[in-house]
Amino acid sequence: MTVTTIINPADERVLQTVEHSTVERVDEAIGDAVAAQRLWAALAPAERAGALRRFAAAVGNDIETLARLEVANSGHPISQARWEAGHVRDVLDYYAAAPERMIGKTIPVAGGIDVTFLEPLGVVGVIVPWNFPMTIASWGFAPALAAGNAVVLKPAEWTPLTAIRLGELAREAGLPPALFQVLPGRGDVVGDRFVTHPDVRKVVFTGSTAVGKRVMAGCADQVKAVTLELGGKSANVVFADSDLERAAATAPYAVFENAGQDCCARSRILVERSVLDRFLELLEPAVKGVRVGSPTDESTEMGPLVSAAHREKVRSYVTDESRVAFRGSAPEGAGFWFPPTVLLPGSRTDRAVTEEIFGPVVTVLPFDDEADAISLANASEYGLSGSIWTRDVGRALRVSRGIESGNLSVNSHSSVRYSTPFGGFKQSGLGRELGPDAAAAFTETKNVFISTD
Ligand code: NAD
Repeated sequence: MTVTTIINPADERVLQTVEHSTVERVDEAIGDAVAAQRLWAALAPAERAGALRRFAAAVGNDIETLARLEVANSGHPISQARWEAGHVRDVLDYYAAAPERMIGKTIPVAGGIDVTFLEPLGVVGVIVPWNFPMTIASWGFAPALAAGNAVVLKPAEWTPLTAIRLGELAREAGLPPALFQVLPGRGDVVGDRFVTHPDVRKVVFTGSTAVGKRVMAGCADQVKAVTLELGGKSANVVFADSDLERAAATAPYAVFENAGQDCCARSRILVERSVLDRFLELLEPAVKGVRVGSPTDESTEMGPLVSAAHREKVRSYVTDESRVAFRGSAPEGAGFWFPPTVLLPGSRTDRAVTEEIFGPVVTVLPFDDEADAISLANASEYGLSGSIWTRDVGRALRVSRGIESGNLSVNSHSSVRYSTPFGGFKQSGLGRELGPDAAAAFTETKNVFISTD
């Protein structure tokens, strides 16, 4: 039996151990899920909707417990963790409307009537990373269940506690135990089995681009559907005509939230050259003002990194002190702390500019004009998110259309709303989660022609 020892990243204390699922256990779970899915799909849509609403209510009644688990397991500040638990409830609530809205089409054809049905896929495997353990899980399981599927969920090795709790809440809410099963364990064991098992009909993978490619290749072997939500290196483009004070005051929160462990982090700030000095002047106090500290403290804005190993990875991008423009504070002593750090890179191709750091490190580079801004924003293998700061509506639209990215915000850093689609261009992924079409992405369209002859 193998286990993960779960460590609180804020004080390095051991919280508990979590047993890994074996391949045999995963196969058993998938077998049970196949049977549970048939019964679930046969229920009246209103009954499935009711069950999901009860699940949402159970999460809503458990927000404090879920939030405290995430604080201890992942080091998320408590205010952020409460938002995450509330978001899971909202995602479930939103997709609870879907079972009664899986609406097909009638298509005019000669000699009969042609209708389409949106059929559930069967069992869906959801594989999630450690940075937002419960929210990202819900983006997969809520629409998949709503569309009539069963779900097997694999949390990341280091952060399984909220996923395990969500499994308990689903059962308390009356969902059949085999319909939604949480299977902690290793990626190359549990996650890989989701990919190779013929009864898992779709894999939703969120994680690194390197593992995502492997998952996609495995799915190709069985022509299995796959959604990939992968890495990011998003740009925060600040034009000289913007509200510079607001752009600078909010820029730290666009990258240092969740200690930069955010696929949507605007980790490349691009500033029109004529206002670069002024922008940096405004940015410095904003960065130094980020409240870094104990995640249990209500006023904390940034907690620790998830692990010692991850902190070493982040540190490897900040080896040349002469490139550090300024940095914020971080506690000393136990905990995987790293201060918010602003780099002025030597060139547009520095490693810190091109690679996803996934920590509280942001680079600032100047650009010359609109075309240069678009080309610099697009000089990345990723295309997940980004912000554009300008007071010129025409420019906001031109630049939004010019940047190759799935989620952009103008004069804002907002990326995620359960009611709008989310996903990446280029190597940031494939497919979309959330929004009105997500439940349909867990169905096959079946076309039936009925002869009237
Ligand atoms: P990771 O790729 O190492 O792991 C992600 C998940 O995949 C984990 O549950 C892991 O156990 C599992 N896994 C590992 N090997 C596997 C295999 N061979 N087969 C199947 N599953 C396997 O990523 P991570 O370090 O946990 O997360 C950080 C990455 O996730 C970053 O690159 C970040 O940008 C990305 N991310 C993307 C989004 C998005 O929506 N685009 C959201 C959050 C995080």
